[in-house]
Amino acid sequence: MKTIMCIEEPILILFALFLGMITGSFLNVVAWRVPRGESIIHPSSRCTSCGVLIKWYDNIPVLSWFILRGRCRYCGEQFSFRYALVELVTGLLFAGIVMKYGAGILFFRDAVFVSLLICVILTDIDHWIILDSVSIGGAIVGIVFSILPGGIGILRSISTAAGAFLLFFLIRQISEHILKQKPGYTIAPEGHEDETDEFQGGMGWGDIKLAAMIGAFLGPSATVVALFIAFLTGALTGIGAIIAGRNRRIPIPFGPFLAFGAAVSLFIGQEIWSLYLSIGLSY
Ligand SMILES: [Zn+2]
Repeated sequence: MKTIMCIEEPILILFALFLGMITGSFLNVVAWRVPRGESIIHPSSRCTSCGVLIKWYDNIPVLSWFILRGRCRYCGEQFSFRYALVELVTGLLFAGIVMKYGAGILFFRDAVFVSLLICVILTDIDHWIILDSVSIGGAIVGIVFSILPGGIGILRSISTAAGAFLLFFLIRQISEHILKQKPGYTIAPEGHEDETDEFQGGMGWGDIKLAAMIGAFLGPSATVVALFIAFLTGALTGIGAIIAGRNRRIPIPFGPFLAFGAAVSLFIGQEIWSLYLSIGLSY
């Protein structure tokens, strides 16, 4: 039995890697098209510069980018390395999930979860939005997965989602209250000038709904770890950006930090939580 596992495992990991890279390619399409109101199925991928249909052999995740050196075969338009990077990272995350949880329903759950998180990072960086279909839709999907065998259970899922939602709502209310006393503190990014309110408190509705989605998937302890990592990395980045001379009135989107914290916690959240408890108990 053990030997069979040994033969199967590398194939399984390779399969997960490839599945992840294809998924990453799809996430690139979603993050580009959905905020622009375009269909994700139709039409097929075209060069954003010359409009020529991209052939399947030029659309192989990661590989095609390197073969064509990131350029369109027809017009030579340079495509960002980010596309290949998203495909590669998604592939590696899928491979990591299959190594941690094997190939069962939990793989499927966590693959969906990291895909949603990557979508959050892309749309929040590019457009300052977290799609409702990703946050609210994702929360519902997370709750459904909690019922399935090996899941965290529906009560833990719903209560963590509600708890995270309330916590973030509270943060929004408090920060809004404080920042109201210095109006116009932050500048809304381009294209969002009519929603200055969203950028006053730093905690937009998108972040609040995203926190609920993360809670629905991770359950209480891993969510606490995820939020801790998010606030820590967010604060450090904010401080770093100010030191680097960034205009402190231009906000930094928080969604990517939440998504990053959730992804880290997905893999080692329980370990960090146990470590925290053991340190706490030894005092
Ligand atoms: Zn082109």
